[in-house]
Amino acid sequence: MTKLDALVIGGGPGGASAAYHLARGGAQVALVDSREPGGRRPMTGFLSVLAQDCLAGMELGDWASRQRSCPRMHFVGPRGTVAVWTPVSERRTSVLAPRGELEPVLLDAAASVGVRLFLDTTVTGIEASNDGVVARTDGYTLPQAQLVILAEGARARLAEDLGLVRRGADYVNLHAVYEHGADGLCEMHYLHDLMPTVSWAVPVSAEAVCLSVSSLSRSVKGSVLMSSLRQLSSERAYSGALAGRRPAQSPRVRCIRSGLNSVTPYGERILLAGEVAGVVHPLTLEGIGAAMESGRVAAQHARYALEKGRFTTADLSAYARALRRVFGVEYRAARFLRELLRSERVLERIVGRAQRDPGFANLVAGLFTRSQSTLGTLTPANLLRYAIWWRGPRPR
Ligand SMILES: Cc1cc2nc3c(=O)[nH]c(=O)nc-3n(C[C@H](O)[C@H](O)[C@H](O)COP(=O)(O)OP(=O)(O)OC[C@H]3O[C@@H](n4cnc5c(N)ncnc54)[C@H](O)[C@@H]3O)c2cc1C
Repeated sequence: MTKLDALVIGGGPGGASAAYHLARGGAQVALVDSREPGGRRPMTGFLSVLAQDCLAGMELGDWASRQRSCPRMHFVGPRGTVAVWTPVSERRTSVLAPRGELEPVLLDAAASVGVRLFLDTTVTGIEASNDGVVARTDGYTLPQAQLVILAEGARARLAEDLGLVRRGADYVNLHAVYEHGADGLCEMHYLHDLMPTVSWAVPVSAEAVCLSVSSLSRSVKGSVLMSSLRQLSSERAYSGALAGRRPAQSPRVRCIRSGLNSVTPYGERILLAGEVAGVVHPLTLEGIGAAMESGRVAAQHARYALEKGRFTTADLSAYARALRRVFGVEYRAARFLRELLRSERVLERIVGRAQRDPGFANLVAGLFTRSQSTLGTLTPANLLRYAIWWRGPRPR
């Protein structure tokens, strides 16, 4: 079997983007994923501005522009204050894409530039030697490669075995509730470990797509999530989405991995990309765009290593610095803001201000859609403005 330049493990946004960019540069690339073609659960993906830019970089800008943009967002404060935000037309914002479509589209793009796909194949171990790197699978021999890009997602089993990811570090349990109703799928996400005061609710009906931030710190039961949405049932769209519903099932717990610091994103003949490299945004938990961007950066470094024929740990270490340059400062700012949002008092005041001040609502929405960087909101001038506002008289 011919030796590959690179083998990409994982066909999510991180792996597909890495494979695409490498193959487009002329490398011989194969991608292996344990799922069957089309074997994904329907779900909505919030595609940030970064994700849309990454899709455009894979010539999928048309596909992204066909997705619905987020028409409104509701922020629900701990005491029930509701602020409604509608996008300002000239500003780009998130779009909502069926998650079941995203990965097949990404894999098709990778295949179109020559990436060989091995689907329904699970890698059980990786061995690097002076000759190259071999990935073991159950009963299947994959071609040897010069380099592996490991984009296995949140669970990080292979990366943990290689000692590149600290076992158990930076996992966040995400409680997801999915409900099917006449209007479509309703999704709610709740992260009590990380932000006890914040939950995301994305009812995917004809027009009621929104994201809400509310306090649900007393319980993580699905029914509590549902009742937070019922606060909004006077809204036409919500009442449509929730009419006749029984309380939700218990939430399904999924995990998200967010944290650059517990990961060494390179090893001998290996680069990590996507969620396994800890690139999920610490505040918004946006992972699709971050995974794709890290895949692009990994491909850049892999191309350089292939050109030089140098694959040692020392040769590949510049990749860690590149990831920190791309994500580090923004993510430190986001973690700071995340700590503030743990306080119900702070959240209530933020929602209250967003209710009265459309400019401020725009700023908060910009953070969650990532059309506005966290760092951009924490400039010295803005910090002074927030301090004056915080000390000023409170509305009754
Ligand atoms: C419930 C939920 C909702 C989310 N919603 C959003 C959202 O709206 N917007 C957003 O930006 N982010 C969202 N995220 C985060 C986002 O989904 C992830 O951060 C992103 O998919 C990470 O991409 P990835 O390519 O690194 O990993 P993944 O998308 O997880 O892909 C990893 C792939 O590797 C394959 N794989 C794993 N191990 C092996 C193996 N041993 N052998 C072969 N294949 C293997 C898996 O089958 C999988 O296809 C959400 C996450 C969750 C859990």
